[in-house]
Amino acid sequence: MAEIRIENVSKVFGDHVAVDNANLTIHDKEFLVLLGPSGCGKTTLLRAIAGLGMADAGTITIGDRDVTYMRPGERKISMVFQSYAIFPHMTVRENIGFGLKMNGAAADEIKKNVDEAAELLHIEQLLDRRPSDMSGGQRQRVAVARALAMKAEVLLMDEPLSNLDALLRLEMRAELKRLLQDVGATTIYVTHDQIEALSMGDRIAVMKDGVIQQCAEPSTVYADPSNRFVGGFIGNPPMNFLDGTVHVDDAGVRVSIGGNDIAPTQDFAPAVAGFDGRPITIGIRAENMRALTEQTEGAVPVTVQVVEPLGSQNLLTVNVGDNRLKVSTHPTFDVSAGDTLWVQFPPEQIRWIDPATEEVLPSGNAAVGA
Ligand code: ATP
Repeated sequence: MAEIRIENVSKVFGDHVAVDNANLTIHDKEFLVLLGPSGCGKTTLLRAIAGLGMADAGTITIGDRDVTYMRPGERKISMVFQSYAIFPHMTVRENIGFGLKMNGAAADEIKKNVDEAAELLHIEQLLDRRPSDMSGGQRQRVAVARALAMKAEVLLMDEPLSNLDALLRLEMRAELKRLLQDVGATTIYVTHDQIEALSMGDRIAVMKDGVIQQCAEPSTVYADPSNRFVGGFIGNPPMNFLDGTVHVDDAGVRVSIGGNDIAPTQDFAPAVAGFDGRPITIGIRAENMRALTEQTEGAVPVTVQVVEPLGSQNLLTVNVGDNRLKVSTHPTFDVSAGDTLWVQFPPEQIRWIDPATEEVLPSGNAAVGA
């Protein structure tokens, strides 16, 4: 049982708070991805869990063991580094068995674990070679094999694919996902690549400026981000954000964008009613709007700026007042730059964001005042 509990963990360098009161529970055998832009504190948090950089505050528990002040070797974890950190002067076999040897494992156990790990990674034929004459992909496999050979219940991976070229990265992503499902270790995987996070994680913890913003399943983080940062960081294209103004009167609630009311006959999230006369931000994904060639009630006129045919879709960049939007359409949708279109915003697809806090307001389609 290797549940990892991170409670109120902080880490400070000088006057810079790299990890700010992190709270996170990673379930036994779960694959959790720690995602965020460069410098947000992912590696610092991972190193605190590994014991490579002690937390300044808080506690870290693995199973029923409080490991907060334990030395790395006592924590029973294994780690894959971005740099791979494999030794060029040792053979692949020696590299994979290195951690076991350091732990004092018997020679026959080392041989058995190394052979098994090499087989899992399909590198049996490389065991007698040295990493210095191997490709980046092969070295990466050696680093993963070394981590797996430890048979630790907890696996920490810091951007393990980031040194590979795009195609190999794509291949290894799927292979690593399959492999880790089979191994069944509790895994924390650090990346700044949101596609990697969406495709691999059981859950994703999104970090910004040392603070965990949201931790949820990939589909939830994508469709229901907790704030503007998460919506804008996840997805390609990222979530669209439009500035609007809320008007509440006897007829109900209207939200105007660039002088146009959107879906005025629909019910809005009750929280929006409290914004009468105030600005509001609308978050909506490119694939959740409908582009129409004719004027329709509740649809907003837009001017097409750019058409990008992407094979499976045509991605349009359009202007609505001062707002610029990405709208996804069917590849056969016939449109050119300069055309006028009408865009519908289905109310259930809109995420209402308070511009002051950038938090997503509670959703719900009840009528205002109800
Ligand atoms: P990346 O994806 O670029 O590795 P990250 O999210 O992993 O970024 P960290 O490496 O954890 O970010 O760094 C978080 C912040 O802490 C950064 O501003 C970094 O400069 C700072 N930092 C990290 N390690 C140290 C250190 N040993 N001394 C001083 N500052 C540090």
